[in-house]
Amino acid sequence: MGQKSTANGAASGGGRGSSVFPRYRQIQKTFNNIKITVLCGFVTILVLRGTIGVGNLGSSSADAEQKALVEETNRILAEIRSDKDPTDTDDINGEAASINPNVTYTLGPKITDWDEERENWLKQNPQFPNFVNGGKPRILLVTGSPPNPCDNPIGDHYLLKSVKNKIDYCRLHGIEIVYNLAHLDKELAGYWAKLPLIRKLMLSHPEVEWIWWMDSDAMFTDMVFEVPLSKYANYNLVIHGYPDLLFEKKSWIALNTGSFLLRNCQWSLDLLDAWAPMGPKGLIRDEAGKILTANLRGRPAFEADDQSALIYLLITQKGEWMDKVFVENSYYLHGFWLGLVDKYEEMLEKYRPGLGDERWPFVTHFVGCKPCGSYGDYPVEKCLRSMERAFNFADNQVLKLYGFRHRGLLSPKIKRIRNETATPLELVDQFDIRSRVVRGSKS
Ligand code: UDP
Ligand code: MN
Repeated sequence: MGQKSTANGAASGGGRGSSVFPRYRQIQKTFNNIKITVLCGFVTILVLRGTIGVGNLGSSSADAEQKALVEETNRILAEIRSDKDPTDTDDINGEAASINPNVTYTLGPKITDWDEERENWLKQNPQFPNFVNGGKPRILLVTGSPPNPCDNPIGDHYLLKSVKNKIDYCRLHGIEIVYNLAHLDKELAGYWAKLPLIRKLMLSHPEVEWIWWMDSDAMFTDMVFEVPLSKYANYNLVIHGYPDLLFEKKSWIALNTGSFLLRNCQWSLDLLDAWAPMGPKGLIRDEAGKILTANLRGRPAFEADDQSALIYLLITQKGEWMDKVFVENSYYLHGFWLGLVDKYEEMLEKYRPGLGDERWPFVTHFVGCKPCGSYGDYPVEKCLRSMERAFNFADNQVLKLYGFRHRGLLSPKIKRIRNETATPLELVDQFDIRSRVVRGSKS
C-alpha cells in the first residue's frame, strides 16, 4: 500500500520524477541479477575445482609436466635395460681394466695363508664365532639376480617369490642371507657372477663357516629338512650329483651348480681360482665353450658356463680336488623341477615335510626356465605354472605355522585352517618347525 501511494505520488509529482524512479529500480534489478549470475558462476568453478582437480582445468603446463615425467621414466628404463652394464665400474685408478688373453685371468690377488689368517681373526674376535647355537657351523646363504629389471615384469614377480621363499627358510633355520644385484667383476657377468661374489663374502666374513650358493630360480620345497652338516666335517665342497655320471659318462649334467656349499677356507679360494679362468666374457668364454662341448657328453654348443667348467675341472684334475668334494644325492640339495612339480598332490597324500628326497624334495630348481630372461628351454607358461605350484607348496608349510593355507597350489589366495585361540602358546609348540627339524641321515 505505502509503495503504491509513493508510486502514485511520484507518478503525480512531476514528469521528471515519474520517469527517473522506475529506471533506477530496473537498473538495480539488472545489477542484482548480474551479481547472482557472477556468484553462481564462482560457486560452479569452486565445485568443479573440487571434483576434477586444479591441474585438469585445461592447464597445458600440467600436461607438459606429465609428458616430461613419462619421458624421464622411459629414458631411465631404456638406460637400465640397455646393454650398458650399470655396474660397469672403472677400477680404482679410473681406467676400465682390459683383459689380456695371454695372461690367465684371476679373481684377485693370490691369497695363500687364509686358513691361518682366519684362525687368528676368529681368536681375536670371539664375539663373532664360526660355530653358533650350540655348535652349529655358521651358514651364509647367498643368492642374487642380474642388476637390471627382467625382460618381462612377471620374471621380477617370481624373483620376489623366490627370495621370499629363501628368507622364510633361513629365518626358520637360523641361517643368514645375502641377496646380490651387482656384478662385482664385469668379466664374470651372468651365471659366472657367483664366483667373485663367493670369494668376496668369504674374505669379508671370516666368521662364516659355510657359504651356501643358491640360484634365484631354485626354491626350498621342504621347509623342515636341514642339510646334515656333521656328515661333511671332512669336506669343503658339497654339491648335488652322481659320481658315475661325472667320471664314467663325463656328462655335462653330472653335477649342478644351482645349489652347493663351500667351506670358508684356503682350499675353497684355490678352487675358485682354478674354476674362474674360463669365465671372462667374449673371446675367452666362447673359446672355452668349444673345449667344454668337445669334452662333456650331451653338452650343446654354447659359451663356457660355470657348471660345465667345474665338471671339467674335477674330471681333469680329479686327484687334486676330489678328496674334499662330497657328491650328494641322498636328498635333493638340487632337484630338477620336471618330474617333481607334478607330484605334489601325491606327496601330500603319502608323505610329510622333513624327508628332503623324491618323497618331499628339499630344493626344486627351475633349470632352463630363465624366468627373468627371454630365451628359456621350456614353454614360459609351463615354467610359470610350475614355479607357482612349487612356491605355494612350500608356502603352505610356512602358512601352516600361522593357521592358514593357499586355496589351491595355483592360488595366491589363502584360507584359515584352524580357529583363533586365546591360548596361542600350545600352537607354537605344536607347529613350530624348529622343534621338528629333520636332517638328512643317509650317506
Ligand atoms: N645370476 C646372478 N647375476 C646375473 C645372472 C645370474 O646372480 O647377472 C645368478 C642367478 O641367481 C641365476 C644363476 O646366476 O639363478 C644361474 O643362472 P640360471 O639360473 O639362469 O642358470 P640355469 O640354472 O638355468 O643353468
Ligand atoms: Mn638356475
